[in-house]
Amino acid sequence: NEKLVEVKNLKKYFKVGKHQVLHAVDNLTFDIYKGETLGLVGESGCGKSTTGRTIIRLYEATAGEVLFEGINVHGKQTKEDLKKLNRKMQMIFQDPYASLNPRMTVMDIIAEGIDIHRLANGPKERKDKVYELLETVGLNREHANRYPHEFSGGQRQRIGIARALAVEPEFIIADEPISALDVSIQAQVVNLMQNLQEERHLTYLFIAHDLSMVKFISDRIGVMYLGSLIELAKSDELYDDPLHPYTQALLSAIPIPDPIIERSRQRIVLQGDLPSPINPPTGCRFHTRCPRAMDVCITHEPKWFEVKDKHWAACHLHDLNKF
Ligand code: SF4
Ligand code: MG
Repeated sequence: NEKLVEVKNLKKYFKVGKHQVLHAVDNLTFDIYKGETLGLVGESGCGKSTTGRTIIRLYEATAGEVLFEGINVHGKQTKEDLKKLNRKMQMIFQDPYASLNPRMTVMDIIAEGIDIHRLANGPKERKDKVYELLETVGLNREHANRYPHEFSGGQRQRIGIARALAVEPEFIIADEPISALDVSIQAQVVNLMQNLQEERHLTYLFIAHDLSMVKFISDRIGVMYLGSLIELAKSDELYDDPLHPYTQALLSAIPIPDPIIERSRQRIVLQGDLPSPINPPTGCRFHTRCPRAMDVCITHEPKWFEVKDKHWAACHLHDLNKF
């Protein structure tokens, strides 16, 4: 598998007030392969969106590295590399309405990137490109002269997708792209994204708070807790053999339609609240809520390592002999 994006020890901290520091993203290391969908899940506030935004340079990294096709995203780039990054990495947002300029027509919204990157020769080609993009995402050319507020949530997300596609990206970060949509519309948007991925060889980072949603679309899934990545594996593997107690708890909360399996699976209810990322717990950040916490978990941070073939986790239960 060819790597498209490499994330190495990535940190993003925010100053809160004068003396406090919010550890939004703390020391993430993972790769994203060409053509795959990597799902990223975790409770709200765990740092998923910040991770996406830091990868795409909407935020500066506090420390660590992101490489896109070998280009250091947060380093000093040549003009050419910078242009490439701005085009090849795009983002789709949870609330397309907030991210679409209400005073611009759909035509101008979608054509903005085409203009910036000079991807059309003259106004006719510009227009034709927008028409084609609208059709690609299941809208039509009559929609081009309208404004965002004239569309439904699902249609607006399609406009957001068309805008991202306009600059011919390779990598799209989708930050909870369907969470705000009606359930009946969600599958349509996911199907559209999957078709586009095949046609255009796209790579996705698909951010969601719900494990059941990402399973359907993701080749691999990463689970975050309080700013840290705690497990990463192929989707099936993560479901069949979750290694981290937090992943086990998340999975146990998903109802299974089969009554026999249901009986054999115990729901794990986590105690306590999600701690604050301003003062994350010592050792393993999950120790305050982990049903299997040991003494070592309070004092020592578990290492992020490949427990099994292509299956990463950070938990002392799997690392005791290496400790
Ligand atoms: Fe639980 Fe300890 Fe593993 Fe953390 S390191 S998940 S506290 S067993
Ligand atoms: Mg978010």
